[in-house]
Parts: sequence; C-alpha cells; structure tokens
Amino acid sequence: MNSDEFLAQIAEEVQVCKKCDLHFSRKHGVSGEGLTSAEIMFIGEGPGFHENQQGRPFVGAAGRFLDELLELVDMQRQQVFIGNVVKCRPPGNRDPRPEELAACDVFLERQIQAINPKVIVTLGRFSMERFIPHAKISEVHGKAMRIKGRLVVPMYHPAAALHQPSLRSSVEGDFNQLPDLIASAESAPELETNTPEEKPDPKQLSMF
Ligand code: SF4
Repeated sequence: MNSDEFLAQIAEEVQVCKKCDLHFSRKHGVSGEGLTSAEIMFIGEGPGFHENQQGRPFVGAAGRFLDELLELVDMQRQQVFIGNVVKCRPPGNRDPRPEELAACDVFLERQIQAINPKVIVTLGRFSMERFIPHAKISEVHGKAMRIKGRLVVPMYHPAAALHQPSLRSSVEGDFNQLPDLIASAESAPELETNTPEEKPDPKQLSMF
C-alpha cells in the first residue's frame, strides 16, 4: 500500500470512527489533505463549523489566512499536508478533551508515518502539546526542535492572530522562517532525540 492509499484508508476510517464522543458532532470527518509526500506538514487543532460542513481542513477565515501565510513563502496548499489533532468537530468549537486527543492520536501518528515529513509545524496549543508537552506557545513559537528525526516548529494558530491582531506579525515572522528551516532540516546534524513522552524542557529548544 503506498502513502496515497494509506492516507485514503485513514480518511475512510475517520468518517465512521466512534472512538470518542466527537463523532456525535461530526457531519464530515476532516482527516486532512494535501501532498502525501509533503516535506512539511501543518497540524492544527480540529475542524470548525465550515470544516465540518465541507470535510476539508482550514476552509474558514483562519484557512484563508493560512493561505496568505503560505503565499508569503511562495507555497501553496498543494505542496504541503494540512491536518488536525482531532478529526471531528468539537461542539461549539470547544477545546478537545484529553480523552478525545488520545483516542484520535492513532490517526495522526499513522498520517505522520505515511507522509514522513521533514518538518512538522504545529498550529496552536493542542497541536504543540502533542509534541512538546508543558511548553508555553508564547515562549517557543517559531523555534525548532528535533524530535524523532524531524524538525518540529510550534506556531500560533492562524485563528489566534485573527482574534488578536497583535499576534499577526509574530505569525508572519514565524512563517517567513520556514524556507530556511526546511533547508537546514536537510543539513543539520542529528541531535539527541527527544520524544513527547520524555517531556523536553522548552529551555532546551534548539534553533536551526
Ligand atoms: S475525533 Fe478522532 S477518535 Fe474521535 S470520533 Fe472523530 S475520528 Fe474518531
């Protein structure tokens, strides 16, 4: 099974999954979309109203801003993969609960294994905590650390910048670093591997 087929199978499983209560608010599961061999994978939080309606990630106002951010670095959606930590919409856009994040993580892990990206960009707190537990996004956004052979770069969720205009320049600045981060991901020496389970100290974050 190639990565296209593997990701298509995950998408099918998501549509009928009942492993957590979020399936009650699901109109369409949103497993993610994009290039199945992407060098860079963006991971947000979960589907909102429009995503739930359309079955696609980042299609509302935050999605339009994400498109603008990608354009800043001459990228398009088709060149990256975009997903979420939970694949079904939390009702009323509430935060996903720990048991929901845990239940859905197997899908995300399988997607990461299939796509095998060089760089993972986490968008928002819940996605960041999946890789860098206990970090503060205000302290670590835009910084890269190597986890299991990949660069993980936490960033604010685009919706946060829409709600807090003061964050917009931070988000744009972090995005502008992406080409350099991808280039250095190829040449950077392998550093000591940290895993999410080891709860790395955010102060040990390594810049590339
Ligand atoms: S959020 Fe994930 S684990 Fe929960 S029902 Fe949807 S696909 Fe299944």
